[in-house]
Amino acid sequence: MKPPPHDRLVFLGPPGSGKGTQAEILSAKLGVPAISTGDMLRAAVAAGSTLGERVDAIMRRGALVDDETMAEVVRERLAADDVNGFILDGYPRTVDQAETLHGIVDGDLHAVLLFDVPEEELIRRTLARRREDDEEEVIRRRLEVYHRETEPLVDYYGRRDLLRRIDGHRTIDEVARLVEGAVGGAG
Ligand code: AMP
Repeated sequence: MKPPPHDRLVFLGPPGSGKGTQAEILSAKLGVPAISTGDMLRAAVAAGSTLGERVDAIMRRGALVDDETMAEVVRERLAADDVNGFILDGYPRTVDQAETLHGIVDGDLHAVLLFDVPEEELIRRTLARRREDDEEEVIRRRLEVYHRETEPLVDYYGRRDLLRRIDGHRTIDEVARLVEGAVGGAG
C-alpha cells in the first residue's frame, strides 16, 4: 500500500480495544510513525526523567495525566523531523486535548478511527495482557475514565465528519483489513 503524502490519523478506543496493535500494523504499511502517548510516558517512567517521576503514580492508578503536560509531550513529538504524517494512539483522550491537537495540526486531520469492542471482551483482553497498570481494579478505573473523559470525543469527531467506526471484536488480521479499508477512503 503506497502512502498518501501525509496520513494524519487518530486511533480512538478504550483500553484493550486493540488500537495499539492496529496502529503498529498500519504504521508499517503506510510508513508513518505510530505515536503512543502511553508508550512515551512509560519510557519516561523507565528512564526516571522529571516527566516520568511526575506521571508514575497517576498512571499506576489508571487516571489521566493533565492536559497541559500531555500538550507539551505531543507538541514536541509532532515537531520531530520524522513526522509529516502520524497515527496517534492514545491521544487525544479529552475534548481539551482534541482542541489542542486541532491547533497543533492546524485543523488538518484526516480521519479518526473508533475501535468498538464489547466491555466484557475489553476486560478479558486487558486481564490477559497484564501490564503493571493492569490490575483488575485499575482496569475498571481506566474504563470508567474512558467513558467519562474520552467517549465525548466520539460525538466531537462525529460532528466534524471525521469518525469511522471499526468493529474491533474480530481477529487481528480481520480488524487490520477493516482499518485499511477505512483509511483507504480517507485521502
Ligand atoms: P495507554 O497505554 O494509552 O493506555 O496509556 C497508559 C496511561 O498513560 C493512561 O492510563 C494514562 O495514565 C496515561 N496517558 C496516556 N495517554 C494519555 C493522554 N492522552 N492523556 C492523559 N493521560 C494519558
